[in-house]
Amino acid sequence: MLDRPNIYAGVPLDRAALRRKDKDWLAEAWASPAARVIPVWRTRSFVGGPAESPCAVFTPASLGVEGDPIFLGLWSGAPLFALDLSTHETPEEHPALAGLGRFEDLRVAGPLMEAGEAGLCAYARGIVWWNARHRFCGVCGSPAESAEAGHVRVCTNPDCATHHFPRTDPAVIMLVHDGGGRMVLGRNSRFPPGMHSVLAGFVEPGESLEDAVAREVQEEVGLTVTDIRYHSSQPWPFPSSLMLGFSARAVDFDIRADQDELETARWFDRAFLRDHTPGDDFRLARRDSIARRMIDEWIAAGD
Ligand SMILES: [Zn+2]
Repeated sequence: MLDRPNIYAGVPLDRAALRRKDKDWLAEAWASPAARVIPVWRTRSFVGGPAESPCAVFTPASLGVEGDPIFLGLWSGAPLFALDLSTHETPEEHPALAGLGRFEDLRVAGPLMEAGEAGLCAYARGIVWWNARHRFCGVCGSPAESAEAGHVRVCTNPDCATHHFPRTDPAVIMLVHDGGGRMVLGRNSRFPPGMHSVLAGFVEPGESLEDAVAREVQEEVGLTVTDIRYHSSQPWPFPSSLMLGFSARAVDFDIRADQDELETARWFDRAFLRDHTPGDDFRLARRDSIARRMIDEWIAAGD
């Protein structure tokens, strides 16, 4: 059991999913003075406060910001909605938002925010992005309109009428160890200088999670793994993933890094990982990531 949820997980919200089809209830909720809106603008989240400790800014729904509201749930009993403001050129100057905050990338602001607020912003970002990317039916190409408070999009062609549901893309992230004091870390050229992390990849159609772990490790570093064990999961709406953390034990040890995916990959000793000084030659993934959590727990397990 985890002593605390991963970042963006464990959001303190009653999703009240059974209300999504109740148009009268939703209209009343939207009109309620207690209703709040999480504005999202071109994937960015609305935050206030200083840059080093931002806080989410939820605006009253009654302020009259136009758009298709998406019902997120009940937050301390108050109806909470997400609203996509992407058609605005300068949303911070909208009369309903002026002076209240700024739009920031949640990947930067999220880890600095209170966990519950960060999770709510992540949920809002994910569901707004899905709606924005599914404006047309993938079956017949007709426009698809929002239904069930933004949780379904329905094809407007009556001969098709396909219902499209929000998608989440499963991605596996795995700590590969040797059963003793070494683990594999790799470096992608897109990482910040010196950063090393565990391996990761998307689950493909027709695969179990364990199949995906084994395949990705084989593809990325040429190792065969066994003893694949689930650790925990983390919503990762950048744009639409769910990270599923695993550990896996290698049964061979000769690393051949796939140069298309990794700049480098090799075995690291537990003692080095525990005692190193982070710098541009070597540092671990950010402390708020599921990757770092798995690495830190593995290091501690050997002490
Ligand atoms: Zn259609």
